[in-house]
Amino acid sequence: MDFSIPPELQEFRAAVRRFVDTELIPLEDLAEENDGLPDEIVRDLKKKSIAMGLNALEMPEEYGGGGHGTLAHVLLTEEISRAAPGVSSGTIPGASNILLEGTPEQKEKYLIPCIRGEKQDCFALTEPGAGSDAQSIRTRAEPRDGQWVINGQKRFISHGDTADFAIVFAVTHPDRERDRITAFLVDKGTPGFTVGQVHRTMGQRGYRQAELVFDDCVVGPEQILGEPGKGFELGRDWLRNGRIMTAARCLGPMARLIDEGTEWAKQRVQFGRPIADFQAVQFMLADSAIDLYASRMMTYNAAWDDDQGVDPKVVSAKASAVKVFASEAYGRVADRVLQIFGGTGYMNEMYVERAYRNARVERIWEGTSEIQRGVLARNLLKRGMFA
Ligand SMILES: Cc1cc2nc3c(=O)[nH]c(=O)nc-3n(C[C@H](O)[C@H](O)[C@H](O)COP(=O)(O)OP(=O)(O)OC[C@H]3O[C@@H](n4cnc5c(N)ncnc54)[C@H](O)[C@@H]3O)c2cc1C
Repeated sequence: MDFSIPPELQEFRAAVRRFVDTELIPLEDLAEENDGLPDEIVRDLKKKSIAMGLNALEMPEEYGGGGHGTLAHVLLTEEISRAAPGVSSGTIPGASNILLEGTPEQKEKYLIPCIRGEKQDCFALTEPGAGSDAQSIRTRAEPRDGQWVINGQKRFISHGDTADFAIVFAVTHPDRERDRITAFLVDKGTPGFTVGQVHRTMGQRGYRQAELVFDDCVVGPEQILGEPGKGFELGRDWLRNGRIMTAARCLGPMARLIDEGTEWAKQRVQFGRPIADFQAVQFMLADSAIDLYASRMMTYNAAWDDDQGVDPKVVSAKASAVKVFASEAYGRVADRVLQIFGGTGYMNEMYVERAYRNARVERIWEGTSEIQRGVLARNLLKRGMFA
């Protein structure tokens, strides 16, 4: 078994780390206070990240991506996520993996511009009545005169307010038991497509969610992504990758929290000694290191399997496991490190205060912890342990 990371990826990781430390982390206060960064700063950061080859690292080279696999993407995501989501998420262009299922024309119009940082997509599945039970969506697309007419409402859609187009999931074949849902590419500005409420959230300042409203929104058949009726399968592919990346996004904050907590424990003096001398504090650091180590190994392993072409069902089960473990571990680490900082950790300007709030959503989006445990249990009962 070879657990080493190839030298070229180690160098790449070191370069990303410098970019995060010098370009992204200094902007965190600005993003936190303004719920995002000014457009000109985002444009500038995008240019820099593209020049470094960070954009769409996992996408095939023929479309302008980096041509690397899932493990490389995980390593990049781990490093980038050391900076708060409000400065890291919009500044490194990327594209949803399911855009690779598009026609040549769709790849030209949507995939390639996303990879180049000229367009941004959003993934619109969740609705007011359909969250965990995504198959129960009610947004309808009905055929009329060779076109499709979309009606319905999506909510909690990340980047929904800024995206240039949405990948919208709608019911096209209501009478079928399976293959009822189709994915559509809907451009911003299409008549009948509007952005509704943009939410203020507990954490992740600058990483916004919006409602999308479709009111007799007409799109042509060329806007269907993949096969009609096969939208749910596309959604599943998106989520399998998304769950591994969610785990990767928890690794960076955990590492930074442990670094900051350790440094603080060495410097903060009470009862005439650094608090790092107290076993109660040491144990909180040790438990956090265990959480990070276990999360990291599990995430790398799931990504490695994906790169080796292991059965997608196995990768899917591992993706659920790492998503649960890393997201819950991040919550535990943030909680312990805040405790180590004492009252100082509760202050708004501290990274740990923000990380504590940011961590909470990781157990909810891309499928809640409960849903992932259900997926795992069903897999176990049917196929055994990651068989
Ligand atoms: C910040 C943020 C960004 C998001 N971005 C996007 C996006 O870009 N695109 C998108 O489509 N969606 C997005 N979502 C939606 C997200 O995927 C859903 O919030 C999530 O899947 C949970 O759905 P829900 O919020 O409706 O909760 P519900 O489904 O109502 O669940 C409520 C509770 O019931 C539990 N529960 C439900 N069913 C079961 C069950 N069968 N067994 C056990 N427990 C169960 C859940 O675990 C949870 O604890 C986002 C959400 C947030 C908060």
